[in-house]
Order: sequence, then structure tokens, then C-alpha cells
Amino acid sequence: MTLDDSYLQKFGFIKRETLSSINIDPLQTGGLLTEAARKALAEWGDGYSVCDYCGGVLDQIKKPPIEAFVHKALPEFLGCDKARVTNGARESKFAVMHSLGKPGDWVVFDGLAHYSSYVGAERTGLNIKTVPHTGSPEYYLEPEGYGTAIEEGIKEYGKPPALALITYPDGNYGNLPEAKKIASICHEYDVPVLLNGAYSVGRMPVNAKELGVDFVAGSGHKSMAASGPIGVLGVREEYAPIVFKKSRYNKAKEIEFLGCTARGATIMTLMASFPEVVQRTRNWDQEVENARWFSARLEDMGFIQRGQKPHAHDLMFFEAPRLYEISQKVKKGRYFFYKELKKQKIHGIKAGLTKYFKLSTFGLGREKLGIVADSFEEILQKYEEL
Ligand SMILES: *Cc1c(COP(=O)(O)O)cnc(C)c1O
Repeated sequence: MTLDDSYLQKFGFIKRETLSSINIDPLQTGGLLTEAARKALAEWGDGYSVCDYCGGVLDQIKKPPIEAFVHKALPEFLGCDKARVTNGARESKFAVMHSLGKPGDWVVFDGLAHYSSYVGAERTGLNIKTVPHTGSPEYYLEPEGYGTAIEEGIKEYGKPPALALITYPDGNYGNLPEAKKIASICHEYDVPVLLNGAYSVGRMPVNAKELGVDFVAGSGHKSMAASGPIGVLGVREEYAPIVFKKSRYNKAKEIEFLGCTARGATIMTLMASFPEVVQRTRNWDQEVENARWFSARLEDMGFIQRGQKPHAHDLMFFEAPRLYEISQKVKKGRYFFYKELKKQKIHGIKAGLTKYFKLSTFGLGREKLGIVADSFEEILQKYEEL
């Protein structure tokens, strides 16, 4: 293959077909840009754009007000003593694991932890012990399970864990574990606690001090209306010297963040959306009500919502026996549901899934959610005879 002109024509500007659809993809509902962020993207899209005014430390840039954002607004928002902007929730978690643990140490994860937590531990060389959940239908996480895991691990590894992780909520069922109880159990063993808020920070109120956790990781592109990849990290004061340790070769640069993190459009879209993001977390009760309303409508049609009930988050997992039945008989097979939704301009349920799928109601409001529920109903009716 050579990079001749005809091959290069594949690239260049590419239109995005799904842009005008109603979006219920859990990955995307919290990352849709605000108008302000869309403008910031155009204005600050050039590479290294924020470095115009940088004197060597990214989070000390005064204009644009990155310093005020990172050192004042963000810690306040997260309920933490200190904060940093990272390149994603996974980078936030990795920075904590890598600075607190060393190869051969071990960590406690909840049984619903995200793959990005696993690879972060693997990259650090940490062993992982998981706290089991109760399985279908609730996938409940017993807080006492952390105590049991810590005691078992101490016997197995001969030392306490470097860290305990709470996924809040998990990315499959949208379950919110009892973080406060879990944190207090872990602290009885002097184990620091990291809250993975990729699906919560920026959607709902999350306050590290109130929950009693030592670290919070958030995702800008998942839940803070930023273009990303970008994340946030909140840290309790006593761990700041460990996680924010500086290079011995360059006194200005923090090792865990490889010197600098978000250095262009990513942080500018995060900051542009921040005022609206703060506002929307204050509307969380309404979001939960909308999720429950939508779930009830689907359950009336024969879908079954798995995970916590009544549900407390916009991310929901459904079992759909009827759609599965239809997919066994219909010509297009398991892609029929995706194709029907596409016709109705509804995007976000993975192509080919019918028996189980997840979706998110975040930010859609009752009217759009009504349209989605009606579409589901119409599709079921259309294939009633099958
Ligand atoms: C999406 C997700 C992540 C990863 O977030 P990034 O910001 O893309 O690194 C981590 N944990 C959970 C639970 C997630 O759902």
C-alpha cells in the first residue's frame, strides 16, 4: 500500500450520521457538548492552544482561568482538598494506583469494576481481590464484603491492600453502592478509598468529604459535557504529596501526570461547560424521576430492568425476552431492533443486541423519553404476529 492520492481521499472531513438522532447511548448522554463548549472547541481547537500563556505549570495558567478552575472550582465541586485535570477517569485512577502501590502490592475492587480499573492495576503490577456482588437480578454489593476481602487478602498477601476501589455507579447496571458505609469499613483497616465516578461526577452531586472517600475520579467526556479525552481527580490533602510528587529532573512537573495533561481543546470544553454542569447536578432528582418513569413504561411492555430497584441512576440495564424471540424469527435477525430504531432516528443501543441492552435517559427530558418509549412500543406491535 502506498499513500497515494486515491487512498488519502478516504480521510479528510467525515460527516457523522448519528448527529441528528435522539441519543440514548450511556457512553454519550453526559458528554454531549453545551453550546459554550461547542464554541470553545472551534476557538481552542489548535494543538497546545492553552500553552500560549503557560509559564511551565499547566494548572497555574491564569488566563484562560485554568488555575482558578483546577485549584478552586474543581476541589469545591468534588468536595476534595486538591484536584487535578487528567486525560480521563482511567488516567486519574492509574495515577492513584501507581503512586500508592508498588509491584506485588494488592488492591480491593468491587465485583462490578470497569476494565479500565483492571488495566490500571495491571500496569502498576498490583494483585486484585474483588468483592462479590449478589448476581442477578440486583447485582447488589454488600458493604461488609470489603471487610471480608481485606481480611482474606491480608492472610493471602501478608499485608493490607494499597487501596480500595468503589465503582459509583458501575457501567453495566447503573448501581450506586453504599459508598459511605464502604469507605468507613475500609478506613477501619486504614485502607484509602478511591471512588470511580466516571458515571456520576458531572451528572449527580458527588462530594468526597460527605462520602468519606480519599480520592474521586471523574470523566469529562462521559459525564461533564466535554469533548475530551479528559478527566478529573480529587485528592485528600494527606495524599497530595504522594500523588502529586514532582520530578527530580524538572521541579515543575508532576510525575504521575507525565508533566502536563490536558493542553488544548479538551480542558477548554470542560471549563466552558462547567457552569451548566454544576447547574445540572442540582437537577439530579428530576433525572432520577425520569429514569424511573421510563423504566416503568418499558416494564409495562414486558421489558425487565435489572440492577438496583427502584433505580437511582440514568444508566439502566434491560432484559428483553420478547425482542429476543422476535430476533429469532425475523429476517434481519438480531439486527432488526437496531435497524428499526435507526429508522426512528434513535441512536445508542448497540447493533445486534436484543436479549439484554443498556441505555441512558440522562438529559433527554420527558418529551424525548416519551418518543423513545413510544417507538419501542410501535416496534413490538409491528412484529406482534411473529
Ligand atoms: C467510562 C468508564 C470509565 C472510563 O472513563 P475514561 O474517562 O474514558 O477513562 C471508567 N470507569 C467506568 C465505570 C466507566 O463507565
